[in-house]
Amino acid sequence: EINSGDEIEELADVFNKMMYKTHDYIEGQERFVSDVSHELRAPLAVLDGHVNLLLRWGKDDPEQLKESLEASRQEIKKMSSMIQDMLDITRLKQSDEFQTEETEVVGSVTDLMNNMEMIHQTCSFAFEANLEPHAKAQIYKNHYVQALTILIDNAIKYSGAGQSYVKVTLSEDDRNIITSVSDRGMGICEEDQAHVFERFFRADKARNREIGGTGLGLSIIANIAQMYHGSVSVKSELGEGSTFTLVLPKAESLYNL
Ligand code: ADP
Repeated sequence: EINSGDEIEELADVFNKMMYKTHDYIEGQERFVSDVSHELRAPLAVLDGHVNLLLRWGKDDPEQLKESLEASRQEIKKMSSMIQDMLDITRLKQSDEFQTEETEVVGSVTDLMNNMEMIHQTCSFAFEANLEPHAKAQIYKNHYVQALTILIDNAIKYSGAGQSYVKVTLSEDDRNIITSVSDRGMGICEEDQAHVFERFFRADKARNREIGGTGLGLSIIANIAQMYHGSVSVKSELGEGSTFTLVLPKAESLYNL
């Protein structure tokens, strides 16, 4: 027996759910565009200021010429990394329906750390693997390496001057591969820890102005974690250091043996 009233109600329900989803999506997009415009306005204003200085004094004052060109270059760099980060986020969001691959984590981490060691020679790196040597996570290798690169770069960046120390630890439980990146850097106060994965959030703005960044790196990781049904979290003590932990499902093939 078909009760048409029920069917219409069901249909209305599905329709409403779809509309809510669309509404959320559009709202999300609008917020993204407005966040981005707002963030790009600051470096553009500085750039505009320096171009005006250059027009006025640049010809006669070599000091001013040098300073303003240098400052302009900094702002341009800031804007390009912001745009690059935003493209990364958009690309992640677009790959909503996708096939993932299985990535061997120990090999991926070893390769990445070898590269990092070459680039950051004053930094000391440690790696500990407490898992099956060929353990695989269900994630595109590029996304895994991208997330890890951001975490290691941050660990170095927020360790301050002098020798920085970064430790990567891999472990596993029944379902997940767990990747942790620890540093002995400046740490993050408790209040800020709740916000670091938000877009454009930067802890301690005054201090961090000196340290380049867009406030987008960790939100890229949050997107990656969500995409693969994993999670990312932080534990930190101000002045002591931070540990970021990325939990990703193990490769599906491991369950089908
Ligand atoms: P960015 O580094 O470009 O500012 P992120 O999204 O990667 O952006 O990080 C957001 C903020 O979280 C940083 O500005 C910084 O305040 C804080 N943070 C991230 N990683 C660390 C870390 N390892 N140690 C201390 N603070 C960190």
